[in-house]
Amino acid sequence: MSIGTKHVDLRQDHWPQITARQSQQCLIEVKVDNCIFCKIAAKQIPSGIVYEDEHLLAFKDINPAAPVHLLIIPKVHIDTLSAVEQQHTELLGKMLALAPKLAQEHGCAPSRQADGSLAGGYKTLINTGPDGGQEVYHLHMHMIGGPKPWRGQR
Ligand code: AMP
Ligand code: ZN
Repeated sequence: MSIGTKHVDLRQDHWPQITARQSQQCLIEVKVDNCIFCKIAAKQIPSGIVYEDEHLLAFKDINPAAPVHLLIIPKVHIDTLSAVEQQHTELLGKMLALAPKLAQEHGCAPSRQADGSLAGGYKTLINTGPDGGQEVYHLHMHMIGGPKPWRGQR
């Protein structure tokens, strides 16, 4: 096991070989040394923060795929959605519940038009693991919205 390498403690072929204590040490190393979102949460590197509370931070994606592209993260380091445990259930709920509030504030909440049709809206997305397209191994939820076209979508 190579402590400090972001992916190593997630891989199925490595995971069963390490103890819970080693795993915890590994996560702490990742948090301190390598995790860009931990550094953003600690204000060690700048970001476009749009929301902060005791548990969560939301900031603008540096490479937006749409007019509104925010990332919602827990301040505590969790590698990925597949690493969440029972104790994180409330935190996940807070992350999800923050999306509509941010959508409202950033003008992309769905709204009823004069003719009765719906307009607006946004996408919430958690990429998980290599095949899920996860690039940053600190749990985060994308909140993507605003007038289309978006990158890769009409
Ligand atoms: P994912 O592929 O789900 O892991 O998405 C990671 C996202 O983090 C990408 O959309 C990146 O553009 C974004 N990102 C990476 N570094 C930063 C940063 N320093 N500030 C804001 N967004 C970032
Ligand atoms: Zn982190």
